[in-house]
Amino acid sequence: MSNSLKGNILVQLRRLVYCSFGVLGRIWYRLSPYPVVLCYHSINEDRWFHGVSLRVLELQLTWLRSFARPVTMDDIYKHITGKVPITTPAFAVNFDDGYSSILSAKPLLDKLNIKPTFFVLSDPSKASHAELDANYEFLTDSQIRSLIHSGWTLGSHSATHRDFWGLSEHDMKLEIHESKLALEKRFNVNVKYIAYPRGRYTDKVLEFVRAAGYLMALSMDDGIISKGQNPYTIPRTGINRTHSFSEFKSSFPPTAIYLRRFIKKVIGDVF
Ligand SMILES: [Zn+2]
Repeated sequence: MSNSLKGNILVQLRRLVYCSFGVLGRIWYRLSPYPVVLCYHSINEDRWFHGVSLRVLELQLTWLRSFARPVTMDDIYKHITGKVPITTPAFAVNFDDGYSSILSAKPLLDKLNIKPTFFVLSDPSKASHAELDANYEFLTDSQIRSLIHSGWTLGSHSATHRDFWGLSEHDMKLEIHESKLALEKRFNVNVKYIAYPRGRYTDKVLEFVRAAGYLMALSMDDGIISKGQNPYTIPRTGINRTHSFSEFKSSFPPTAIYLRRFIKKVIGDVF
């Protein structure tokens, strides 16, 4: 079976799973809400898997804003540490990889009063394009400064986007610790959060992240963000081009999270 046919079948399977339990999931979520972190990458009209168009982003976020409030990663941290629990529907927006195309979403995000966290590479000139699976333009330093100035939160997405599963301890230090120091020095901010490239980590990676002084680290795990949650494995819901609007609406309620977790255990990471 060709890869694209297999990919298409998996997308249809995912659509069936999400949409079959959509209404039940949304009722469940409204009865027992928790904060959700949505992970986007680029804003593009082309066919790149991890991108979404501006029109789709607007549709998704405008719908979310009709019943949920936007929160920041600082709010998520206060929630998991029990300082300020989030008890109503709430969502945070993340952008991984640091592509300049996310600038096109700024007017929309401003209008909806959403302050995203964007995770950039500290050494983009040495970025692993094989791991990124894309070759888009990165944000420039002055664009990053301007986003910070407008209230967006800067996070680390490592130094070069290498796969954290196969790193030596020397390289872990470079990708985790040195990226934090480099971004803090260059942009004069405290970098409190890191997003794992492709969401991948090991126990050793968690140790390095804690030792480097990050408050939280973002994965692509399926889970509900609650008080007492391990701050170094915060779950996120990845949104990409293959999600239809009905799927998006059903992608973060408990039904989708538990089903995705089950399917990943049985047939692997297909979503
Ligand atoms: Zn990435």
